[in-house]
Amino acid sequence: MSDNTKNDAPPERPLKAYAFDPSQGRNLGNYMTINVRNEALQPGPVGKYLVVIDYDASNDTYYEPVNLDDPAVLLRGGLDPSESDPRFHQQMTYAVASETIRRFEFALGRKAKWGFRGGRRTDPNRYRLRIFPHAMQEANAYYSRDLQGLVFGYFPASETDAGANLPGQTIFACLSHDIIVHETTHALIDGQRRFFMEPTGADTPAFHEGFADIVALFQHFSYKEALLEVIQKTGGLIYRLNVAPEVAPADGGPVIAPELSTENPLVQLARQFGEAMGMRAALRQALGTQPNSKDLEKLFEPHDRGAILVAAVFDAFFSVYVRKTRDLMRIAKAGGATVGPDDLHPDLANRLAKEAAKIAGQFANICIRALDYCPPIDILFGDFLRALITADYDLVPNDRYQYRAAFIEAFRLRGIRPQDVASYSEESLRWCPPEEMKGVTAPVCKGLDFDVFSLPTPAQQKRNAIILSLFGKNNAEALGLRPGIPVQAHSFHPLHRVAPDGGLRVEIVAELMQQTEVHLDPNDQQSEKFTFRGGTTIVLNREGQVRYAIQKSLGKDDDQNERLRRQREYYYAMDAISGLTTYLPPPPLDGRPMNFNLIHRGY
Ligand SMILES: [Zn+2]
Repeated sequence: MSDNTKNDAPPERPLKAYAFDPSQGRNLGNYMTINVRNEALQPGPVGKYLVVIDYDASNDTYYEPVNLDDPAVLLRGGLDPSESDPRFHQQMTYAVASETIRRFEFALGRKAKWGFRGGRRTDPNRYRLRIFPHAMQEANAYYSRDLQGLVFGYFPASETDAGANLPGQTIFACLSHDIIVHETTHALIDGQRRFFMEPTGADTPAFHEGFADIVALFQHFSYKEALLEVIQKTGGLIYRLNVAPEVAPADGGPVIAPELSTENPLVQLARQFGEAMGMRAALRQALGTQPNSKDLEKLFEPHDRGAILVAAVFDAFFSVYVRKTRDLMRIAKAGGATVGPDDLHPDLANRLAKEAAKIAGQFANICIRALDYCPPIDILFGDFLRALITADYDLVPNDRYQYRAAFIEAFRLRGIRPQDVASYSEESLRWCPPEEMKGVTAPVCKGLDFDVFSLPTPAQQKRNAIILSLFGKNNAEALGLRPGIPVQAHSFHPLHRVAPDGGLRVEIVAELMQQTEVHLDPNDQQSEKFTFRGGTTIVLNREGQVRYAIQKSLGKDDDQNERLRRQREYYYAMDAISGLTTYLPPPPLDGRPMNFNLIHRGY
């Protein structure tokens, strides 16, 4: 192939997928095409980031890998959606995971990286995330750092209560768009924030789950057809839980299918999976609950607690959507149009859909970008609010449409209270530079070696890690680290972001970590020990000057150490609340990461 033809390669490859899952049939734009970034593929598919390995451990069988470069497949824009063709399952997991990776790279302004360290040198796939579409006969799906991959199960639908499915029909987790995005997001978070896998409190596993659901839900608003249909059927009120029936039923209630109202697929997750398990509902319905500031004191199961975070973020999203589309509604009404369900003028519906998709994209970006502004460990929901506010302020100082105010209000209503802040004002929520925090001049880290537009090479990584560790050690006090304890630099990401004003921001984000061994019971020197970690996320500007030092200090093992006390309490509580042990691994006394297999099992 000459260079010329190479350059002519189209930038994108169209691949078909279910927008939701097979149970939605062709309704609501369920058959969709994803335009993934075009890359050279081997059968599998095997690409730069992903390798789909279709091995069924329960039956010890390999399924034939799909060749997406086969002209017969290319000409059709990928294989057609099919529940019975494993090659379509391979295609769909590849397409949806690729799209999720692209989302992250776009928002983060850098190449994606996985959290696992790679296996044997001889393994050609050691830097790729493995996807096992039919790994086991089980109603489950999870990300495993040990397996370096995403594991999807399949199972027979409930015989007694299968919802829209046939009783006993085989349900594939790998055909649920939501589940693929959710699991890929777990893997992507792990690549950015390695220590978020350590359950240090109720918020940490809940954050992982909630964040994965947030990304999956925002993805819904990029499905043009589905969005347009929901807008038509709800009169633009896309946050409604139900969409109006095609025909209003008479007083006696609905008698034919078009008179039945249906659930709004945009605001629920993994419906087929949930129904097939006899739950009579989608797997998760985080939205549509009333704000209740007491929920945080009652909900500890990771998905339930994560749902509080999801609800807060979507509350903010819908508030901004309503605010930004109010003028369109007013114009329509002023022109004498009605704007109820099914009365929307197609032009108005189109404008609303465009606006909703745009705002959803912006919100997803803000959330993903905020990962860089999170502390390296022990994330609390309140920390995430502060990260959101800081990340957005950094890029868009002028908050004309009050996105940040919407976030703050929504988090406040759900009872999410950040620690160590004077108020819910934007100024006090923003992380502050070391000058303001400790009254010291912001230290400058010199000599970092990187190229903004490509991933650092292993040699560069190594050099930078040494420079950063030394920098942490020499500026421990100013950076919130404990003097005298070794500092390890755990990640180093140069990134560039384009602000709405077109300006290019170059920043460097790194995690500096410390650890110490402490007793589970501080008063009993015989009690078990666990690894207690502390650390600081530093955000540097291009010159190496510290702009933010986002810290979870190690502190000393004494009465003053609030964070250590909380972590001990959490381990005790996990032991005591027997209900939780089915969802959570035992306290990770050896610093063992969370086990998503257990968290997701049967749920
Ligand atoms: Zn999960």
